[in-house]
Amino acid sequence: MVNLLDFDADGLAAWFAQRGEKPFRARQVLRWMHRFGEDSFERMTDVAKSLRAKLAHEAEIRGPVPVRDSIAADGTRKWLLDVDNGRNEGNAVEAVFIPEANRGTLCISTQVGCALDCSFCSTGKQGFNRNLSTAEIIGQLWHANRALGAVKTPGVADEGERVISNVVLMGMGEPLANFDNVVAALKLMLDDNAYGLSRRRVTVSTSGIVPAMDRLRDTVPVALAVSLHAPTDALRDQLVPINQKYPLKDLMAACRRYLEKAPRDFVTFEYVMLEGVNDSDADARALLSLVRDVPCKFNLIPFNPFPQSGYRRSSVERVRRFQEILMAANIVSTVRKTRGEDIDAACGQLAGQVKDKSRRTAVPLHRVAPLSRARTQEIRR
Ligand code: SAH
Ligand code: SF4
Repeated sequence: MVNLLDFDADGLAAWFAQRGEKPFRARQVLRWMHRFGEDSFERMTDVAKSLRAKLAHEAEIRGPVPVRDSIAADGTRKWLLDVDNGRNEGNAVEAVFIPEANRGTLCISTQVGCALDCSFCSTGKQGFNRNLSTAEIIGQLWHANRALGAVKTPGVADEGERVISNVVLMGMGEPLANFDNVVAALKLMLDDNAYGLSRRRVTVSTSGIVPAMDRLRDTVPVALAVSLHAPTDALRDQLVPINQKYPLKDLMAACRRYLEKAPRDFVTFEYVMLEGVNDSDADARALLSLVRDVPCKFNLIPFNPFPQSGYRRSSVERVRRFQEILMAANIVSTVRKTRGEDIDAACGQLAGQVKDKSRRTAVPLHRVAPLSRARTQEIRR
């Protein structure tokens, strides 16, 4: 049975057209699904009854199934979502909601595992299992909106602030290695009949797949974050192995090309701070010459450890000193606040549950956090 969450607006219109239905019918259904978070055709009250029956016969609206729902002491919320619809393999991915004073950010996954094997990343250490479908990618936003009570109400004017104001593709997987499904999901995020987010508020984070960066620029140029992590090819080849294929010179050129169409006039470089590996003053100065021609900001990420990573987090003083060197050269640099650590929701800690995963097992509930600090509940299926 076809899952209508798999279609972007054009895809849904085409599917309706094949059935002799008008484009505005597809738009109505799109709004019900995404704006109002509806999963029952029966409740789509302004859609003709006969069409509702026909849809129920041929199609479904199937979001991912939550298997765990954890809330950290700081309000960060993480869902473990089954993406195999109860099949025995039990693949699951994670989505994380990070509430802040002036925005709410949802961090979503694009693959089960990741093939790129960055040396400091727990998702990479699990290996690659498979790409998520469009329905599974947009389904994370669809589910979070419903779970947070953030869906719109039909007939009621938009009231104030959005609960989820920003979406970042920084969860498990490399978004640009799952290009078509990610693009369809991005189009839904931007579509006024779906989530209506502006391009500035949707960020794709990539380890630097250069040709796909160009394609993204030409299809849906949302905000771009690039996982840089090293100032030289010698070091980056080790930390981010895809660098052997697309070295820094090509990556910097791709960033400049991207900026011609980007919604913001800078690229964000993410830089994980690994003690004694990439965090010296000399590294910071080398970065300055590397990015000389690329308008950018830096987001320094304190390394989030996981078992057997072999790395340590740089000290607070080291990160501050590194930041000062960048700031002294007028490069805006922030240090990412680590959120949701007590539920393993921080960057690079997203593990999910991957079939055949050998190196890490899902964190048992009693180990997720001391009860006094976090509330954890398991949703039983
Ligand atoms: N695959 C994409 C997006 C997912 S990772 C990418 O690599 O950009 C999101 C960010 O978390 C990336 O910058 C990644 O390098 C960083 N990250 C991975 N493992 C980490 C860890 N253990 N500690 C801190 N940041 C990490
Ligand atoms: Fe994949 Fe990104 Fe992790 Fe590298 S950092 S292994 S690209 S998810």
